[in-house]
Amino acid sequence: MRKTAIVTGASRGIGREIAMRLAADGFAVAVNYSGNAAKAEEVVKEIKAAGGDSIAAKANVDDEQEVARLFEHTETSLGSIDVVVHNAGIMLLSPIIQNDAEQFDRVISTNLRGTFLVFARAAKHVVDGGRIIALSSSVLAKSFPGYGAYIASKAGVEGLARVLANELRGRNITVNAIAPGPVATELFLQDKSPEQIAQLSKVAPLERLGEPIDIARVVSFLAGPDGGWVNGQVLRANGGFA
Ligand code: NDP
Repeated sequence: MRKTAIVTGASRGIGREIAMRLAADGFAVAVNYSGNAAKAEEVVKEIKAAGGDSIAAKANVDDEQEVARLFEHTETSLGSIDVVVHNAGIMLLSPIIQNDAEQFDRVISTNLRGTFLVFARAAKHVVDGGRIIALSSSVLAKSFPGYGAYIASKAGVEGLARVLANELRGRNITVNAIAPGPVATELFLQDKSPEQIAQLSKVAPLERLGEPIDIARVVSFLAGPDGGWVNGQVLRANGGFA
């Protein structure tokens, strides 16, 4: 029987590629987005053109009611939920000394509160035997200056994933995080000079930036039959970045 996946933040970047890959793997996919309806609809169109099933679903992941509606709408439109990939996230950088509490709150709200809310609904809705996957970041291990709020939020994501894996004991649901190294998307490329991008692309021994498909393949593994014994882990998919 056809399975169903929700991918948050799937209008662009890594999430888009994850949605396309899961659709190619045979999942019906709910393509979540927050503002970019046209881009989300493009992803849905591409999935349908390839013979798959998909809906676009607007929801801000840090809004409790909107997250609840995302899960309900997906169940009504595509059937019971087998896989949730919580990918939506933002990265805003500034050194701690700048005391930008407003920026800190935004990052924590989207990345950490968003993960909490999506996990809470996923725990309720995902069928026994299902999979829950969240996006962390390999930058955690680097502690780069300026990344305080982002790293704090992603450390929280990894903590929540391990706790949820334990809380779902007995339901045969795996919960894991994937921690990419730098991937060539808007989130990574914005506000960086060509020199910074060139330098960061050489940090990993594989000497290139990640592509969204590198991460989508890891999601495909964790969401598919071969990933079933991996639980409560953080997979650092980064070309050796850290
Ligand atoms: P992009 O900025 O390219 O895309 C972000 C996606 O998240 C968009 O679809 C956007 O939707 C959505 N989004 C943003 N805020 C919200 C929100 N509040 N509610 C719902 N959706 C939202 O990011 P990436 O693809 O690069 O990143 C995806 C994930 O991977 C993030 O969690 C990021 O932290 C993580 N990551 C990325 C790395 C990188 O180098 N790129 C490295 C390590 C981890 P819309 O288009 O509607 O705005």
